[in-house]
Parts: sequence; structure tokens; C-alpha cells
Amino acid sequence: MKLIVLFGKPGAGKGTQAAFLKDKYNLCHISTGDIFRFNIKNETELGKKAQEYINQGQLVPDSLTINMLKSEVEKNMDKAGFLFDGFPRTIAQAEALDEFLSSINLEVTGTVGLEAEDDVLVARILERGKTSGRADDQDEAKIRTRYVEYNEKTAPLIDFYKAQNKYHAVNGIGSIEEITERLSKVIDNL
Ligand code: ADP
Repeated sequence: MKLIVLFGKPGAGKGTQAAFLKDKYNLCHISTGDIFRFNIKNETELGKKAQEYINQGQLVPDSLTINMLKSEVEKNMDKAGFLFDGFPRTIAQAEALDEFLSSINLEVTGTVGLEAEDDVLVARILERGKTSGRADDQDEAKIRTRYVEYNEKTAPLIDFYKAQNKYHAVNGIGSIEEITERLSKVIDNL
């Protein structure tokens, strides 16, 4: 089984690329952001708990996120592997993921980071905000909070995976097809 983690700051293009990669490699795409938004839309208990954090641009607490992730993995064990998009986002989540995967005799195969400069990304998000309907895409202060959260809580994961030789950086600037090609080269070698 291939278990791939797609990394990148908000706006780096994780969701766009995941949509291609999941079909190409027959992976189950798990986007924690999409699952939260689905739960908010359907007014589930999880959605109600997560909504305020998300709208403010903050991370949802680890316990909620980790439990949700585990149940998604358990539901999809028939796939050739997993493509995690937006998870893990904290060291605690990464450790919980390792522990959970080892309990079912699996491990993270590799992580791929889509890299791009903040200025380019903020511009992309503001553009996306015109049509996405996402409260966290509309307002520059909330977008900035997401970058602060990323730098404080998610960026340390790069060293966490580098220490295990599992981090691969990919240039996130270019056409969608070019970037899919770059990511595929890395994934083919995992
Ligand atoms: P983006 O990468 O553009 O910020 P996502 O759809 O991945 O968009 O995430 C949107 C929001 O959902 C995040 O700002 C956060 O509030 C919440 N979220 C998603 N994944 C996680 C996670 N692994 N841990 C905590 N919160 C998360």
C-alpha cells in the first residue's frame, strides 16, 4: 500500500493535485478540510465543533481531527493506498498517525511538499475566495492566521519527516499539468 502525505501551505494546490493523483494511483484521497466542510454543511456534531475554528483560520483541535482521520482510513481499506491532504498538520497528529498505522501494520511511505512563496499563495486564495464561498478565504486577516498556524504548527513536520528520509520537496509554481508531472516523478519512486 502507498500512503502518501501531500504537504503545502494554504493555497499551494494540494486539493487540485490530489484530484489527479488519486485517479492515477487508485488512492483514497482524504482531505481533512473537505471532510470538515462536509460536516459543517450537514450540521453534524463534528461540524458544529469544528466550525468556529475553521472560520477563524485556526486549526481544529487534534483530538477531533485524529479520530475523524482514523475512521476515514478504516472505511477505505480496500483501496491501493491513501493520499492524505491537509493531515497531519501538527507533530501530535503525525505521531498519532504513525502509532495508528503501525497498529494496522502500515506506515507512511513518503511525503511530498508543494513549495511556493507566501505572496503568490495569498493572491491565489483571495482569487479562490471570489467563488469558493469559504469564510476563511474571504478575509485577509483570517488568511494570515492560517499562515501563522502553518508556520508554528505545521512547518516543523518537514523536519520530522526529513529525519526519517521521507520528505520530498516539489516546486509548486507552474501549470497544473507540470506540477502533476513533478509529483508523479516523486511518487513513482516511492
Ligand atoms: P487550506 O489548506 O487552504 O487552509 P484546508 O481545506 O486543507 O484548506 O483546511 C481548511 C481548514 O480546516 C484549516 O484552516 C483548519 O481549520 C481545518 N483543518 C483541516 N485539516 C486540519 C487538521 N489536520 N488539523 C486541524 N485542522 C484542520
